[in-house]
Amino acid sequence: MASTVPQETRDLLAYIDASPTPYHCVAETARQLDAAGFMRLAEGEAWPVELGGAYYVARGGNVIAFRVGTKAPAEAGFRLLGAHTDSPNLRVKPEPDVRKAGYAGLAVETYGGILDYTWLDRDLGLAGRVAVAGEGGDRFETRLVDVRRPILRIPSLAIHLNRGYKDDGLKLNAQQHLPPMLGLAGAKDKDGPGALRRLVGEALGVDAGRVLSWDLALCDTVPCAVGGIDEELVFAPRLDNQASCHASLAALLAAGEAAVTQVIGLYDHEEVGSGSTEGADGPLMEWTLRRLAAAFAPERAETESLARAVSRSFQVSADMAHAVHPNYEDRHESGHKPMLNGGPVIKINVNQRYATSSEGAALFEALAREVEVPLQKFVNRTDLACGTTIGPITAAKLGIRTVDVGNPMLSMHSIREQAGTLDHPRMIAVMTRFLQG
Ligand SMILES: [Zn+2]
Repeated sequence: MASTVPQETRDLLAYIDASPTPYHCVAETARQLDAAGFMRLAEGEAWPVELGGAYYVARGGNVIAFRVGTKAPAEAGFRLLGAHTDSPNLRVKPEPDVRKAGYAGLAVETYGGILDYTWLDRDLGLAGRVAVAGEGGDRFETRLVDVRRPILRIPSLAIHLNRGYKDDGLKLNAQQHLPPMLGLAGAKDKDGPGALRRLVGEALGVDAGRVLSWDLALCDTVPCAVGGIDEELVFAPRLDNQASCHASLAALLAAGEAAVTQVIGLYDHEEVGSGSTEGADGPLMEWTLRRLAAAFAPERAETESLARAVSRSFQVSADMAHAVHPNYEDRHESGHKPMLNGGPVIKINVNQRYATSSEGAALFEALAREVEVPLQKFVNRTDLACGTTIGPITAAKLGIRTVDVGNPMLSMHSIREQAGTLDHPRMIAVMTRFLQG
């Protein structure tokens, strides 16, 4: 039987498998942009941008890519897609080696709102960014590391030793119960640089003593999978929000040249509030738009060119949405119960936890009709606090009209999430149409 899983969804699973951390997500995005002929720009250099040209700029877990329109931004505006590269997980502390009850362990802390119990009894690897002492002139160099084999595990406590579990539920103290074990504490790492530095040094092929510092995260070693009785589901880590990153990238690659300047911004640190040099509340997008607007402005109109461009611009902020859960149907507002494979979701919150206005919703609805994609709507139950995303932050910062959308999913913030196979190509189709102006 031929597979019914759309190619775009298969591409998404490969993208997630290549992206255990925001840094890898940016590297994989850059690899695809390079292959499509986008030119990498350095923040510290003058940008040789031309009308119709395609470029990108990256720092850490943040990448911004754009195809300049055939008209100047001040004349035609920007079409902006935003998403975030980070997901909740466990991060390695600065002095991580611990020995406890004969085991070698790793000191970790929680990043973002993890569903902690989903990390128990998983075969965990380690990935991220490591600074290594430089050789020659450089004081240090930054390298990506990806150890995707089961070196770590957080064992759950046997039910026989936790008799209160059935009545009290599972209560995990992050300091006490989440540190994973690395193995048995042998004599090997008793002295010297320690087990973590040894592991990272071996992975990078450098002496362990050269490992200076890191941004390292734990990750599941199990690859993404297609599931469901008719292959209608995907099971994967980091769907929130690498699915929206991949959709934005695919849309930019597919959109082709237009009068408008097409921009995608994939940001780090959304799960911890976006306030960083690489987050949506950081400066990179604003500076990029400012530089682009000024580059094509007539002399003495550089200052007003950004304001003119912004007034003609629109942003689609994409982050995953809560599908209705079969066992917790009451958690959704009636009439607003997104289904997996029911189509992309417009997210609305009058208190501006989502930036969607009636104008933004109308634009997205019109675009979806043009490409014959079904849509769904999400609004929180009034008695439940609403989550938020990058949309309200970038909308307030840039002054660009924004609509918050996302594909429906279950198990949000679990180590292993779930979505439908059909919604991903639909989101790409609407985003592509949006970028074409
Ligand atoms: Zn998210």
